Amino acid sequence: MSAIDDLATELSKLPGIGRKTALRLTYYLLKQSKEQSRRLAESLLTLSDRVRPCERCFNLTEDTLCAICRDPRRDQSLVCVVEEPSDIGAIERAGEFRGVYHVLGGRLAPLDGIGPEHLTVVALLSRVASGDVHEVIVATNPSLEGEATAVYVQRELGRLSSNGGGSPLIVTRIARGLPVGGDLEYADGASIAQALAARRAM
Ligand SMILES: [Zn+2]
Repeated sequence: MSAIDDLATELSKLPGIGRKTALRLTYYLLKQSKEQSRRLAESLLTLSDRVRPCERCFNLTEDTLCAICRDPRRDQSLVCVVEEPSDIGAIERAGEFRGVYHVLGGRLAPLDGIGPEHLTVVALLSRVASGDVHEVIVATNPSLEGEATAVYVQRELGRLSSNGGGSPLIVTRIARGLPVGGDLEYADGASIAQALAARRAM
């Protein structure tokens, strides 16, 4: 029974999968052909082997730079800061944003032991200091932790003496059009486009 228990335990660690669903999936997989199971196992391995963070923005990619950073039509002077790579997907689906991104890799959560050292803030600062970034839009989630993270990012950016270019750096926050506590990831495209358009200086 331990092979069944092992897989059910691993599956139940996935978001939205309880113990019962994990067992149901495990029994379903048992009924599949060996070939099908091998394909699933191989794609899981390939995923962790190939996918890595973009060297510039920490979005997920199979190359050194992600497709957005490589795109010459994107405005490299406009950087949207998000918590997770999945937030990029949500903003891209809204279809309005023409700048580039910076993925923090989470949000400040002292109770869970997540401090600034766990986020990519230092990389953001050096990116802003060395490049021609004119505006940073802080698009962390409208939760308490997301707001605290936004304030932290803004304060750190404020300490930079220069953004590397001639003009001053503008730091903005997306508008509160999104439901409080709701994740950007689950917001609809129109709400995201509106929240971006109505952003305000911090
Ligand atoms: Zn990138």
